Amino acid sequence: MRDFVYQAAPSRVIFGPGTLAQVGAEIERLGCTRALLLSTSFQAADLAALAHQLGPLAAGSFTQATMHTPVAVTQSALAAYDACGADCIVALGGGSTIGLGKAIAFRNDAAQIVIATTYAGSEVTDILGQTEDGTKTTIRDPKIRPEVVIYDPTLTTGLPVAMSVASGLNAMAHAVEGLYAPDANPVTSLLAVEGIRALKEALPAIVSNPTDIGARSDALYGSWLCGVVLGSVAMSLHHKLCHTLGGACDLPHAETHATLLPHTAAYNANAARDALAPAAALFGGDLAGGLHDLARQLGAPLALKDLGLARGDLSRVADLAVSNPYANPRAVTRDGIHALLTRAFDGARPES
Ligand code: NAD
Repeated sequence: MRDFVYQAAPSRVIFGPGTLAQVGAEIERLGCTRALLLSTSFQAADLAALAHQLGPLAAGSFTQATMHTPVAVTQSALAAYDACGADCIVALGGGSTIGLGKAIAFRNDAAQIVIATTYAGSEVTDILGQTEDGTKTTIRDPKIRPEVVIYDPTLTTGLPVAMSVASGLNAMAHAVEGLYAPDANPVTSLLAVEGIRALKEALPAIVSNPTDIGARSDALYGSWLCGVVLGSVAMSLHHKLCHTLGGACDLPHAETHATLLPHTAAYNANAARDALAPAAALFGGDLAGGLHDLARQLGAPLALKDLGLARGDLSRVADLAVSNPYANPRAVTRDGIHALLTRAFDGARPES
């Protein structure tokens, strides 16, 4: 047993089919009376139903949440918050909507109730990524972490299978990197392995039957655990590469994570052998190969070229990836990253 520091992250988690019905009680429990409801335009109908359910507790709705949290959208949402006299936020959706709620709370310290409907894990972190003038910056602050999280698996039965699979692999990436994080501890490692296990079993069942509420529950449970890991320990190569590909090449968030994960796991497989061993055991001893096979079985994207990356971008991404040093089990070299990216570009089987 190594020495460690474990910092518990406070949030109240309400889990189970039908728990959407508890949003009103949670608003009142926080001592609030007027919520601004948030969603993307895609989930506006679900938000309207929630507003109806909440009656006078719903002071207003803002349905323009956008990927990567543009500051201009946050400013519009803040104006809506003030205009309707809101005293808290209810965010219904995935990382984009949750990001908007966090961006508001970062500025005015509003209490947040989040109903998470993807597996991205943002709802349990104190991390806010926002974009302005084409640049994405990341902020950590205790005000950013939502006070209450509601996981109602019935809301995820409509998450399209392709998005479910990519989002589930995105969650697993938090856990894989959490295992070899420089500040990993026995508790986050337990959460990581259990999160990977739950998602590994749930995702094939969701592909077979997207409305299987048992599988949907297991996936949401796994994504919660993986999200806690993301919010507790430092991320390394995998998340830095995804951030670079998203920022510099505008690749889609969850799909980029899904495509790269087997390759980043392979890159670190030998250097982090002990830390990754419990996760590798879930895949018959070969984590990277097992993740690749799982992604293939699930119909997930396997190749960066299929996400819109051009082969000519690989050198620039490799340059960017080594420009800012950070902790990683294996030294991050330009040649190593270029080779990793080339295999991921082609969708080849990962190599350690
Ligand atoms: P998303 O929130 O952008 O959702 C994608 C689309 O799916 C949206 O149109 C959304 O409305 C829709 N959708 C979501 N749930 C649905 C459901 N159950 N049924 C039908 N449609 C549904 O996607 P995401 O992958 O959850 O989030 C990506 C964003 O979150 C990125 O900007 C990423 O940077 C951020 N993120 C932040 C953190 C953090 O800790 N700060 C963690 C993970 C992701």
